[in-house]
Amino acid sequence: MGTKIIRVGLGRDVHPLVPGRPFLLGGVELPSSLGEWGHSDGDVLTHAVIDGILGAAGLGDIGELFPPSEAAWKDADSLKLLKIAFGLVKQGGWRLINLDCVVTCERPKVLPYRDRIRASLARVLAVPEQAVFVKGKTNEGLGALGAGQAVEALAVCLLERAQRRRSKHPHCHKFPQ
Ligand code: MG
Repeated sequence: MGTKIIRVGLGRDVHPLVPGRPFLLGGVELPSSLGEWGHSDGDVLTHAVIDGILGAAGLGDIGELFPPSEAAWKDADSLKLLKIAFGLVKQGGWRLINLDCVVTCERPKVLPYRDRIRASLARVLAVPEQAVFVKGKTNEGLGALGAGQAVEALAVCLLERAQRRRSKHPHCHKFPQ
């Protein structure tokens, strides 16, 4: 049995809410008169998840991987960005153990859509739905979040991978058998 390395990652994102945009969380559209403004599709939760997994793997952040200055990411499907980011994480030998998220907004209510959001993220990350959790919170009327002008997402994740051995027999030269 090899030793495992476990790494925690934390992602956070915030987007303004404006008319004429879809309100997306984890690739699921919630009914809302306002939606997330952003260069991509604005999916605040998926962006926080991307930063969480990239951070845990030490692979940078979403802004480095998908610069807003690049036209290719204009109105991009954030689930596709997550798939690309998770592909890099998997190339590093990492496996996702679990993901836990908090979405803060006054409206719409997240709870009725929670399980669809969990299933959507779990599908891209190739883990059981039980390994992904999402909680909806309000900001108790405080600040821009409380005024319904913005939505925030936090995501914490655990990754694991097998420890890489430095060499096959590091001490053999000292103690030849
Ligand atoms: Mg974002």
